[in-house]
Amino acid sequence: MKVTRNTNSCISCGTCVAFAPDLFSIDSGVVTLKKDPKTYTEEDKKKAREAAGACPNGVIQISEE
Ligand code: SF4
Repeated sequence: MKVTRNTNSCISCGTCVAFAPDLFSIDSGVVTLKKDPKTYTEEDKKKAREAAGACPNGVIQISEE
């Protein structure tokens, strides 16, 4: 899985962190990755997709690889 972030659109709302606190955090006002997506478990991938889908600004982009 590949995870990219359009950080210019992040409004620090924390929704992604609420969905996946092990994967995302807010640092200096923008979302950051806590884990390398290459090491994601299947459960992590599910949570990452949920977090990306819940982001109000489409900041988190997921591609399956
Ligand atoms: S849900 Fe989206 S806008 Fe909100 S903190 Fe996460 S990446 Fe930023």
